[in-house]
Amino acid sequence: MIFSQLPTVAALIAAVTALSAQPPAATPTRADILRGAYGPYRANNDLLFYHLDVRVDPEKKFLSGKVTIRFKMLQDATRIQLDLHAALHVDKIVLGDTTLKYERDSGAVFVDFPETLRAGRTYSIEFYYSGNPVETGRFGAITFKKDPAGHPWINTACEGTGASVWWPNKDQWRDEVESMEISVSIPHDLVDVSNGKFMGKTDLGDGYTRWDWLVQYPINNYDVSLNIGNYQHWADRLGDLPLDFYALPENLEKAKKQFAQAKGMLEAYQHYFGEYPFQKDGYKLIEAPYSGMEHQSAVTYGNHFANGYLERDWTGVGISPRFDFIIIHESGHEWFGNSITAADVSDMWIHEGFTTYLECLYVEYMWGRDDGLKYTNGYKSRVRNLQPIITPRGINKEPPQDQYFKGALFLNTLRSVVNDDARWWTLLHDFYQHFKYQNIMTEDVVRYFNQQTGMNLTPVFDQYLRHPALPALELKWDEAAGTVAYRWKADEPGFQMPIRVGTKDHWQILQPTVEWQTMKTPLKKVEFEVATDLYFVTVSKL
Ligand SMILES: [Zn+2]
Repeated sequence: MIFSQLPTVAALIAAVTALSAQPPAATPTRADILRGAYGPYRANNDLLFYHLDVRVDPEKKFLSGKVTIRFKMLQDATRIQLDLHAALHVDKIVLGDTTLKYERDSGAVFVDFPETLRAGRTYSIEFYYSGNPVETGRFGAITFKKDPAGHPWINTACEGTGASVWWPNKDQWRDEVESMEISVSIPHDLVDVSNGKFMGKTDLGDGYTRWDWLVQYPINNYDVSLNIGNYQHWADRLGDLPLDFYALPENLEKAKKQFAQAKGMLEAYQHYFGEYPFQKDGYKLIEAPYSGMEHQSAVTYGNHFANGYLERDWTGVGISPRFDFIIIHESGHEWFGNSITAADVSDMWIHEGFTTYLECLYVEYMWGRDDGLKYTNGYKSRVRNLQPIITPRGINKEPPQDQYFKGALFLNTLRSVVNDDARWWTLLHDFYQHFKYQNIMTEDVVRYFNQQTGMNLTPVFDQYLRHPALPALELKWDEAAGTVAYRWKADEPGFQMPIRVGTKDHWQILQPTVEWQTMKTPLKKVEFEVATDLYFVTVSKL
């Protein structure tokens, strides 16, 4: 996903409030906990498979269908938790011939079984539902629009709101199905593009056609998508990888030109991380009525068929007009977000910090190290340092915008701490390969980086991710003695991090800790520089 373009009035007020006083965090509501916690009725089972089979009536803005949910029990139990937005009706839930009882509590649906489900066994239930979903959240979650020519144009983008806004599922991040079928029945003159491999379409004989898609990899709920419209399709390949593109007919020529950037993007990311994660499902890029979203193997695009972000030089340093921000950013999520997924919304920087850093890697791959650094540091102006990047767990609370820009600048800092590019590229590649298709937390990232580097990077990760303030390098001169004293000022008691200082042509690496140390320097206070392009820190010359 992408950050909001402009801060809302509420966010500005919150920022001002945070500067003047630190208000206690809002108490999570019962609904937040039901959505965000991995409670006992979620933890007692492991998802294996969904088949979402939905009929979409564009005129009535009405959905009806069923989801087959296959899961393995991890404990003996008689109840599981699923989720469905209160605006949608539960028609019935069945296990074979048995109609199951259920209890609704805000967005949660607790399903009760007449006999104990046994640990280790696999069960399959069918959840029938219908209704008019609400349009809510930043991109509307599910929207029933018309394209400029007046055809229905129906799209989903529900990461913040949750997929249960339009279909029943176990709506959390920790557990994913291993594969999924998506069947979408729509009026015969429209096209549906969903996730995975297109398996074919069937005329239902009543003016509707069913489009069948097969997802052959784990997928998180919010990535599951509908894109229904008067789409034109064209295809290409990158080696063995099928590339499929969809745009409205009026934008076809512009789209063909702009979407050609997908190949260079895929080559760049494959260079750093290895094969595109969803090879069997292919890569799709689909025009949508909002700016864009990383739906797995079916990335949506609404960036005006122009470079930059919504036709602006996004980081303001002259680099972003060279490429289409949405193609590069949203597709980067195929590696970080879709393949590697955070297990709780609290740790969403694993999606957004990494993917923003992937933009920087793309720039470096295309135009070299200097431009990569320039682009990366262009993000500094967007960092606020008001709240920690990692939010409290279990309450479905999305982290602040710093997860993007500060997240990327932190990873750029980590590269300088490792201080060996060959090693850094191996580390990044192996980190991705080690955790691909898994749901992980920050602790897993830190443990891996510590093990692979042999360094104790925990205080560095913690300072950047769990505290609002950047580490501050304090420098104090004694020009008569020709010395400078230095230390880190940081919230983490054991914080220490190497940093390059001196002059651009002759950096030397200091090893400051939180205790004062002194060194000789021929440089005067005004001449003494710190490599702040390589390390995201503040510097105070005392
Ligand atoms: Zn994103």
